[in-house]
Amino acid sequence: MGTSGQRQGRAGRPHSPPHDLRACGVTTERRGNRVLKAILWDMDGVVADTEEAHLLAWRQFLAEQGRSVTAEQFATTFGMANPAILRQWFGDALRAEDIHSWSARKEALFRTFVPTHVRALPGAREWLRWGRERGYRQAIASSGEMANIVAVVAALEIGNQFDALVSGAFLPRSKPDPAVFLQGAAALGVAPEECLVVEDGIVGVEAARRAGMRCLALTTTHPAEKLAGADLIVHDLNALSEELVDALFA
Ligand SMILES: [Mg+2]
Repeated sequence: MGTSGQRQGRAGRPHSPPHDLRACGVTTERRGNRVLKAILWDMDGVVADTEEAHLLAWRQFLAEQGRSVTAEQFATTFGMANPAILRQWFGDALRAEDIHSWSARKEALFRTFVPTHVRALPGAREWLRWGRERGYRQAIASSGEMANIVAVVAALEIGNQFDALVSGAFLPRSKPDPAVFLQGAAALGVAPEECLVVEDGIVGVEAARRAGMRCLALTTTHPAEKLAGADLIVHDLNALSEELVDALFA
């Protein structure tokens, strides 16, 4: 990653485990009129590459229903919520109870593929550790259901990097509504303007803006021109540097 030299330089200094950091309180660094205290991480496409596990889950679900879907067809549903995807495959006449139970089945299948088919995205582990070293509070703030968040965090063994896991699955409105990020800030005990959101989604970038938070966008999933509402856009977390993060709060 872009700051590996500096990080290696820091490796020699005493390193507190996460629970000690929390016990000592949060250190902050004043940068102009904003202070970065917390980082809200989107999960899919930012921390974890979950695409293949979702594809496998949809394939198995559709096979159970006697249907098949190609990778190209799957790509047309990328980023859509389950009800919209189900209506695309089965039509608008689908009953609400079928949408609910079939969606639950697909997500249960997804979780069976998580341990073998989900991996951390480039730089994610390193920057999560960096956030801990700097004493920032950190949360996952994802539209996905909590069971999925827990499954991914457990599979990647990154639970110690977070103070909270926040799911927006049961919120009345999903991203671009800012509710999931505002809940994340509340869960971490910080003000919205003290948060940095890391996102790869168009609606996620918009949600961060509406929440009054700084936003770092990754072009993991969408091209930079579609993420123009972000304060900073990088290709992936390996392209990020401490200087770029600090400049967001200067
Ligand atoms: Mg995402």
